[in-house]
Amino acid sequence: MKTIYEVVIGLEIHAQMSTKTKMFCRCDNDSFNKEPNINTCEICMGFPGTLPCINKEAVKKAVIAALALHCVIPEHSKFDRKNYFYPDLPKGFQISQYDVPVSLKGWIEIEMKEGIKKIGITRLHMEDDAGKLTHAPGGTLCDYNRSGTPLMEIVSEPDMHSSEEAVAYAKEIQKILRYVGSSECDMEKGMMRFDINISIRPKGIKEFGIKVEVKNLNSFRSLERAIEYEIKRQTEAVECGERIIQETRGWDDIKGVTESQRTKEEAQDYRYFPEPDLPPLIQKNEEIEMYKKNIPELPRAKKKRYEQEFKLSDEEARILTEELDRALFFEHAATISKDPKKTAQFMNSMLLGHLNEKHQSLGECKISPENLGKLILLINNGKISHNLAKGKIFTAMFETGMSAEEIMEEKGLEELSDKGALENLAKKIIAENPKIVEQYKNGKTTVIGFFVGQMMQKTKGAANPKMVQDILKELLGAET
Ligand SMILES: [Zn+2]
Repeated sequence: MKTIYEVVIGLEIHAQMSTKTKMFCRCDNDSFNKEPNINTCEICMGFPGTLPCINKEAVKKAVIAALALHCVIPEHSKFDRKNYFYPDLPKGFQISQYDVPVSLKGWIEIEMKEGIKKIGITRLHMEDDAGKLTHAPGGTLCDYNRSGTPLMEIVSEPDMHSSEEAVAYAKEIQKILRYVGSSECDMEKGMMRFDINISIRPKGIKEFGIKVEVKNLNSFRSLERAIEYEIKRQTEAVECGERIIQETRGWDDIKGVTESQRTKEEAQDYRYFPEPDLPPLIQKNEEIEMYKKNIPELPRAKKKRYEQEFKLSDEEARILTEELDRALFFEHAATISKDPKKTAQFMNSMLLGHLNEKHQSLGECKISPENLGKLILLINNGKISHNLAKGKIFTAMFETGMSAEEIMEEKGLEELSDKGALENLAKKIIAENPKIVEQYKNGKTTVIGFFVGQMMQKTKGAANPKMVQDILKELLGAET
């Protein structure tokens, strides 16, 4: 009988904290696209005789992130040196947290097709990043701008069993870190990357297989592909009677394969010891309580609330809670329109659609939440037709940032829901088309569509369509 294998996946996520300065010095924490080595100092270059100083803002952001991931924050934690030699590490060691991290034992929920799944988080700790090496034809170039960048490392439990679950987990972590403002997680700027621990075992067996680590994945797509590749590679190896060796592998995005880099190092290889230049960290209870109060409603809770309170569909709520500023924009607009459902529909289809088309972010959007809310209010009060709102008025609002009322006034659109004006226009069109009126009289009532079309054309789509229908039926009815 053929053995069925189960994959076991744990993820280590590195996220750059969004602080002004680096982890242990005053260098700028924004090194993206900067001239190499311009963003460095004696401390992050590890000059002898210099002393690191803990970035308070970084500790705060790490603790807030940890709280959002339901982690426990012990009163005491400390920094440790992780020693290794590599040209990207000028100090000769990385400052990390080894046995007493700033937080541990958390969890998050992910939403899969089969339902909600809880994924355990072993720990979240702080560390500083290394520099960047570029291997060029003539030699290797070192850029230490990133050296000392503050990172959070979030280590999950081996709770995931497919690439879909791993990607859903990584996306949820990204969303949460952005919501609480601890990291921007912009993967194009190298602010978030993943290491995978992956092994397979015959289904039903409790014992773990030998795990392989795949390091430095910098997109959700490569995370998914690397997992799929490893599942296939390991399954084939085991089926051929090979033994999986514990090792670190790298992902080649072009070839679409993982390649062996080195056999897995043990913790003792790093000769960890407490960082002698930094004091232990103490987290006061009052401070933690204060941070907790400032954590916004998180994406999963928000989504659930939108579905229950506002009767939004799963998809509508998912889109709106993707980013915090989007959710807040929606909530603001919905309080004004008093119609959350229609506001959600307008935001998702019209507003986000227009922004997408123009490659703009919500921050660049000229329409304010107030004005979007008021536009929907005008539709619901019958002041403007849905078509007009979605067409001309919305486009003008998007381009100018003016309110719907200002645009209606400026373009003289208001009269088009004026019954008298529409009746006069309808009479004129009827008078001009006696042959079609004849057809209507002979029972071909579908020709009413022709008159509606004429009315909409003459009013440039501004007429209230319901009103047009009613007026035409009345006038044409009187003819028969
Ligand atoms: Zn520095």
